[in-house]
Amino acid sequence: MTVLADILARRIAKTGPISVAEYMAECLLHPEHGYYATRDPFGAGGDFTTAPEISQMFGEMVGLWLAQVWLDQGAPAPFTLAEPGPGRGTLMADILRATRAVPGFADAARVHLVEASPTLREVQHATLKGHEVTWCDSVAELPDQPLFLVANEFFDALPIRQFQRDAKGWRERQVAVIDGTLGFGLSTPAPIAALDDRLEDTRPGDIVETCPQAGPIIAEIAARIAARGGAALIFDYGGWHSLGDTLQALRAHEFDDPLAHPGEADLTAHVDFEALAAAAPGLTALPLTPQGVFLERLGITARAQALADKLSGPALESHIAAHRRLTHPQEMGTLFKTLALMPQTAPTPPGFAP
Ligand code: SAH
Repeated sequence: MTVLADILARRIAKTGPISVAEYMAECLLHPEHGYYATRDPFGAGGDFTTAPEISQMFGEMVGLWLAQVWLDQGAPAPFTLAEPGPGRGTLMADILRATRAVPGFADAARVHLVEASPTLREVQHATLKGHEVTWCDSVAELPDQPLFLVANEFFDALPIRQFQRDAKGWRERQVAVIDGTLGFGLSTPAPIAALDDRLEDTRPGDIVETCPQAGPIIAEIAARIAARGGAALIFDYGGWHSLGDTLQALRAHEFDDPLAHPGEADLTAHVDFEALAAAAPGLTALPLTPQGVFLERLGITARAQALADKLSGPALESHIAAHRRLTHPQEMGTLFKTLALMPQTAPTPPGFAP
C-alpha cells in the first residue's frame, strides 16, 4: 500500500466513500503525496511522455499557428500568451523560439503559466530561463487583455465524476474500502439534473463522465477571448460526447489499476470536447480535428524533412520515429484531437476545415 492509499483508506473508513473526482484530486495534487505535487513524471525515466517532449516540431507548429491567428486579428499588443498545465515548460520554450522571427510577437506577449505543482514550477523556471514569465494558480488570474492560449494534456488531468446508468436515474461510482483495500462501489440511485439529457442515449449499466472543473475553466478563458480577442488551442485524447469508463492509470509507461498505487501513478480520463465547446457559447468552436491531420495541414512533414537533412544515424532514426509518433493514426495522430475556440468574427485559422 502506498502512503496515500493508507491515508485515503483511513479517511474513507471514518467518513464514508469518496467520489472518483475526490480520489483523482487527492492522487494528483495531494500536497505531500500527490503525483504531480511530488515529481517530474515526463520522459523515458518517468511514467509517460507528451507531444512537446517527443519533438520540438510540435511546439514549432503551435507557435506558428498562434502567431498566424494573432496576425489575423491585427496583432494586438500587449496580449497574454498562456498555457495551463505546462509540464516541463518545453512547449512554451519551443513556441517562443519558433515565433522569434515574427515581428512584434515577442514584445507584445506576456507569458502566463497556470501550474498547480510547485515541483513542476521549478522545472518550468529552469526551462524558460531568460524569459519573463508570470505563474498563476488559476486561469481566473489571467489579465483582462487579448488571450492566446494553448493547453496540451491539461484537461485530461482534471478530476472526473463517473455515473452509472440505472433503470430510472444514476448511481455515482465511488471509491470505498472493501476487505481492507480500496475498491469501487456505487452510491444509492439519484436523479442528476446535469445528466437528464443523457437518459436518451444511454442504457442501464452505461457509464458517463463529467469533469466539474472543465466548464468553469473554459468559461474564464472564453470570457477574455470573447471580450478582447484571441484564441484557445486545446490538444488531448478524447472525443465528442463522453460515453464509457475512461479513467486510466499510467505507471512507468504501463497501464496500471487506477486504485493500485494512489499518488504513484498518473491518473487521467478522456476529454469530452463537446462539453468544453458547450462551456464557450459566445465563441466559435472549429470542427474537432485529429492531431495528425492538424499537424499535417500546418506543414509538419516539410519541417520534418528540413530537420532530417541535418541528421544521420540514430538521431535521424529517432527524428523519423518522433514525426510518426505525433501524426500516425496508429500512434497519437487519431487518438489525440485538436479543438480551437475563436471569436465569432475571426477568420478560419490554419489547420481546421471551416
Ligand atoms: N502540457 C504538458 C504537461 C501535461 S501533464 C506537456 O504536454 O508535456 C499535466 C500538467 O497539468 C502538469 O503540469 C500538472 O502539474 C498540471 N496540472 C494538473 N492539474 C492542474 C490544475 N488543477 N491546475 C493547474 N495545473 C494543473
